[in-house]
Amino acid sequence: MRDTTKHQGLRNRLVNVLIKKGITDKKVLQAIKKIPRHLFMDSSFIDFAYQDKAFPILADQTISQPYTVAFQTQLLAIVPKSKVLEIGTGSGYQTAVLLEMKAKVFSIERQQELFKKTKLFLPKLGYKPKALIFGDGYIGLKDEAPFDGIIVTAGAPFVPKPLLSQLKIGGRLVIPVGDKVQIMTLFIRKSEKEFEKHEFGDFRFVPMLKEKN
Ligand code: SAH
Repeated sequence: MRDTTKHQGLRNRLVNVLIKKGITDKKVLQAIKKIPRHLFMDSSFIDFAYQDKAFPILADQTISQPYTVAFQTQLLAIVPKSKVLEIGTGSGYQTAVLLEMKAKVFSIERQQELFKKTKLFLPKLGYKPKALIFGDGYIGLKDEAPFDGIIVTAGAPFVPKPLLSQLKIGGRLVIPVGDKVQIMTLFIRKSEKEFEKHEFGDFRFVPMLKEKN
């Protein structure tokens, strides 16, 4: 597990690509500049780690494209100590971005293989989420609710009601909604019953799955 000046150089280039594509949040860009994405990927893909692309990881899942990670994180608009729930831990890369931004992170993964791998891996890089949970993101995490932010990193066929109800007033849910193609959607909780909805165009994710292994 090595991070070298070559990797850092590639990350600086990646950050410039993200700026050109419209990412403006300095804290998000700083996190991406710092995190050794190549270490979150299977070794055969290491040379591709700093291209702005998604790649396969364990269990037929993918590590999200850096632009997608940056875009979703920017929409989440977190500040230090924000309490954040992530659905779809996957490789843990998005988790690391949230932790670099000093959020308190709870993350749920439904593939046991990935859950186990990432739970061992993140602490090796010094990343300490509040909790990694093996479970079903459709039900959220009632015991720790409410959250300042909830980020879903798999394509949701519909918006799970528990996720909306687990937001603080003023809290934000960032969720790609749709079957084959997903529309990036932001919900802001305005009151107990009112949610503001904003849509941000098409993205492609692996599907959010219902049954557990
Ligand atoms: N943030 C991750 C993205 C991984 S892809 C990364 O950048 O690496 C989406 C992840 O969501 C997969 O790991 C998949 O197993 C997980 N997932 C799918 N359905 C889920 C569900 N119902 N609950 C929790 N996680 C789920």
